[in-house]
Amino acid sequence: MEVIPEPFRIKMVEPINLINEKQRQTALEAAGYNVFLLKSDEVFIDLLTDSGTGAMSDKQWAGLMVGDESYAGSRNFFHLQKKAQEVFNYRYILPTHQGRGAEQILFPTLIEHRNCQDPVFISNYHFDTTAAHIEISGAKAINTPTPWAFDTTSSYDWKGNFDLDELEAIIKQYGANRIAAIITTVTCNSTGGQPVSMDNMRAVYHLAQRNDIPVVIDAARYCENAWFIKQRESGYQNKSIAEIIKEMFQYGDMLTLSAKKDPLVNIGGLCCIRDNEALFRNVQVRCIPQEGFITYGGLAGRDMEALAIGLHEAMDEKFLNYRIAQVQFLGNLLLKAGIPIQFPTGGHAVFVDAKILLPHIPNYHLPAQALANELYLEGGVRGVEIGSLLLGRDPQTKQQKVSPFEFLRLAIPRRVYTNSHMEYVANCLVKIKERAKDIQGLTFSYEPPILRHFTARFQPCS
Ligand SMILES: *Cc1c(COP(=O)(O)O)cnc(C)c1O
Repeated sequence: MEVIPEPFRIKMVEPINLINEKQRQTALEAAGYNVFLLKSDEVFIDLLTDSGTGAMSDKQWAGLMVGDESYAGSRNFFHLQKKAQEVFNYRYILPTHQGRGAEQILFPTLIEHRNCQDPVFISNYHFDTTAAHIEISGAKAINTPTPWAFDTTSSYDWKGNFDLDELEAIIKQYGANRIAAIITTVTCNSTGGQPVSMDNMRAVYHLAQRNDIPVVIDAARYCENAWFIKQRESGYQNKSIAEIIKEMFQYGDMLTLSAKKDPLVNIGGLCCIRDNEALFRNVQVRCIPQEGFITYGGLAGRDMEALAIGLHEAMDEKFLNYRIAQVQFLGNLLLKAGIPIQFPTGGHAVFVDAKILLPHIPNYHLPAQALANELYLEGGVRGVEIGSLLLGRDPQTKQQKVSPFEFLRLAIPRRVYTNSHMEYVANCLVKIKERAKDIQGLTFSYEPPILRHFTARFQPCS
């Protein structure tokens, strides 16, 4: 396997510490068997999320020093606005505190603006906070991923795609007037950080246009998605990442962005609209009471500066080559050891298939959560469940929704861990595989009504 060395050298280090096995057991019990409730000092290698956990560059740190903390009209806002306009080719730019900040100001505004009765959103797969904001604004979130997404054992290049036939059928079923928007999530986090092809983005947009439905791009990992298009889709090999990104955003009317992912900052988000000025004005109105004034949206001036610089660094192809290769490196170590993963690996994480690894644990006993706990006990490594626990219950019937997968996601922070950290993580999972049949499922001892995975508490079944 070709080794792609880190295209950076390390200028500052942060010590990490592995507490002993008994301490890990005590820590996990105190956290109610929910790794979200551990203290970070109790974690050795933290693969909980790639969100806000990346390392900023020397240029970004230098950017912090030129923060202009004026309440209104900060020069960092204008820098950010210019950069975002260049990257996405959208006219209207609003900073927000994170991706969910953009969601909470855009979705209810969109429903009002389109005057939707009993509104519905359709996505290749709604991210958890995205689905939550849709439900909070009284709408329904429907996922229409390609059936390939659920078959972790076979290889397919575009497991993030929409199922176009299904999308068309759902539009017919509900009627275009009820559909507030179609949300194209790039890459598709929930199916494994899997890319959406340009062809699929284009087809979705044309279908939406024929039905007069707006398309929102949920853009958290747009650079990783562009990288996959360049590698895998014919006609894009000689295009730059920047050109591919511009084309991707042609197939949307607006975007919500968690800048804590690809844009390489620890906090921040954007809500951008291509050219609908009336809609933008209404989103600005919501922004002020909820996020902050329109030239800061919940961010410090220095954060906007770091984001403006991050937008540029995130598109660097040499960085992306290394980034995706590191994810593949961990994936290949697991595959070689016979550990089932979503295949091929996607952009930001390796997804271990707990349904296959722990077939004796039924979905309602949360196999991937049990696996997350076991990985913590084994080596102080923290991953996260993407399965039944995350999906939650139907808001109307209160029944557990049926999750098509039970994944343990090992998300890799950007520019933070080396490949020997990855080898350590793989070795922990290899040891767990040997005792997989002894691992027990979990039951709730506290179950919050929404976004329950963050604060739920469990006990092992016995
Ligand atoms: C992280 C994420 C969000 C939400 O962004 P936050 O910055 O965490 O609020 C929305 N959509 C996708 C696809 C994400 O990965």
